[in-house]
Amino acid sequence: MNSRRDFIQMLSAPIVALPFMSSMKPAEIPYDGPVLRIAIMGLGGYATRVAEAMLACKKAKLVGLISGTPAKIKAWSEKYSIEAKNCYDYTNFDAIKNNPDIDAVYIITPNALHKEQAIRVAKTGKHVIVEKPMALNAKEAEEMIDACKKAGVHLLVGYRMHFEPKTLEVIRMRNAGEFGKIKFFQGLTGFRSGDPKQWRLNKALAGGGSMMDIGIYSINGMRYMIGEEPLWVTAQETKTDPVKFAEGVDETIQFQAGFPSGAIASCLSSYGMGNLDRFFLNGEKGFAEMQPSTGYGPIKGRTHKGELTQPHQAHQTIQMEEFASIILEGKKPIVPADGEEGLKDMKIIDAIYQAVKTGKKVKLA
Ligand code: NDP
Repeated sequence: MNSRRDFIQMLSAPIVALPFMSSMKPAEIPYDGPVLRIAIMGLGGYATRVAEAMLACKKAKLVGLISGTPAKIKAWSEKYSIEAKNCYDYTNFDAIKNNPDIDAVYIITPNALHKEQAIRVAKTGKHVIVEKPMALNAKEAEEMIDACKKAGVHLLVGYRMHFEPKTLEVIRMRNAGEFGKIKFFQGLTGFRSGDPKQWRLNKALAGGGSMMDIGIYSINGMRYMIGEEPLWVTAQETKTDPVKFAEGVDETIQFQAGFPSGAIASCLSSYGMGNLDRFFLNGEKGFAEMQPSTGYGPIKGRTHKGELTQPHQAHQTIQMEEFASIILEGKKPIVPADGEEGLKDMKIIDAIYQAVKTGKKVKLA
């Protein structure tokens, strides 16, 4: 302090700060509530995105790492200031049981690993967050749900669209009757898959092909957009490259579904076509169309009433804030993202694969 002016400024600072603080917006007021402390398992492409997005969360914080690659543990620990005592590999992560600084584990590994890893995490007494598809089939999903119930922990699935503001606005409009009786949904989800050696094209690790990875967005979307559970599905597979997409790895599947109200859905899942990211919902009084509909966004869309204008925020930031509220405060989301919700999608995926195989309509209810 080198002048009388500095001294006066210091004395008056708290007085000046008070009216300033009262004008702060909620997001600017420092948060001192409960925080969900999370370890991420599997430090790959999507985990990288989740970790970045979590930096903007106030209720969720990355505090631990589980990886089979020591170099990633080193780089991530430095980047996110993770303590060595909170780092594990796939052989020793059961010891998280004795770590009071971790509340939940977010599993972001290849699909075929989810079931066993989720059950192991549940046994540690920590909450389980798992990426979609939650498992390879409904039977595995049921085993995961049972294990989490038995351990008394939450089981949440990374359904980021369930918290996306434009999606939620369409759901609000539907619930308010603004589209009238829903008649039809179209979901187109797909991309051109690259490296033929990636785990996504390996049946043992992926559990299937495009349907497990990207078609699940059409399945999940038809349920949250129509707001009902399907009674039946029919499905047809097309394969243009049987070398890249081996037996059991679907390249493209079209499927149709029927709902109790009489609404129908027609969807496409593909690893062989680009620019497939579109939802269309048709009702007796109006419509909603979204393109992109499930990509990382910003989601764009309009209804018969005009453009959807809800602001964009990283889906993973919103999802992790909401997951923290669900686990810490018992919040009930508008569209659930729990194990039961994931199981519903797995039952439909099982039915679609059965319909492809048999060529017959498969009943779900
Ligand atoms: P990546 O291949 O980029 O990463 C998977 C990570 O899992 C690897 O980096 C590795 O991390 C770990 N791993 C453990 N065992 C294996 C194994 N046998 N083979 C390969 N990797 C292994 O995949 P993604 O991050 O793209 O996908 C992971 C999961 O996230 C999938 O279930 C996918 O469906 C889901 N996902 C969800 C998205 C969404 O928008 N919700 C988007 C993208 C993916 P390490 O070296 O640290 O052990």
